[in-house]
Amino acid sequence: MLDDIQEVLIEAEAIQKRVKELGEEISRNYAGRDLLLAGVLRGAAIFLVDLARAISLPVEMDFIAISSYGPSTKTSGVVSIRKDLDDSIADKDVLLVEDIVDTGLTLGYLLRILQARQPKSLQVVALLDKPARRIVEHPIAYKGFEIPDKFVVGYGLDYKQKYRNLPFIGTLKPEVFAR
Ligand code: IMP
Repeated sequence: MLDDIQEVLIEAEAIQKRVKELGEEISRNYAGRDLLLAGVLRGAAIFLVDLARAISLPVEMDFIAISSYGPSTKTSGVVSIRKDLDDSIADKDVLLVEDIVDTGLTLGYLLRILQARQPKSLQVVALLDKPARRIVEHPIAYKGFEIPDKFVVGYGLDYKQKYRNLPFIGTLKPEVFAR
């Protein structure tokens, strides 16, 4: 797997340090409230479980899975729910946990459907922000890292469902896409 990596953009240690900082910030801001972490499968799964353990509050965790259509390295913004959250979010403080915000279309869709369920509050934590390709802007309350306009894998992010288990964020060698 490591043979397929072109460049490491964010080292594993840097990710762990940042996740810890985000966890501390979230713990301070949500102290005394009931926080629900809503993770977007599958990309945000690894980030969510690390983030949850960096938060010192008794959080709830739930997951939503969406499918997007189009080429595997691009988002079309056409999304549908493949697996919904298990529980109601009405009157809850919800933090939507995303792996990466690229065009912002997926996030916009998710915020729209979740907001319609009338949570007490709804904010976003995203591990990565790729602002260069943004089409629609939505506030990201907590952000891990800004990255350049490159297709990245690792720490939950995939190419054709693989490389999610890399502990760092990196790019793939061009020949991997040609396989
Ligand atoms: P958006 O709708 O364009 O913001 O895209 C969001 C989704 O596209 C993310 O949740 C990822 O699943 C996927 N995505 C966008 N950029 C990358 C990338 O560089 N690597 C892997 N997946 C990506």
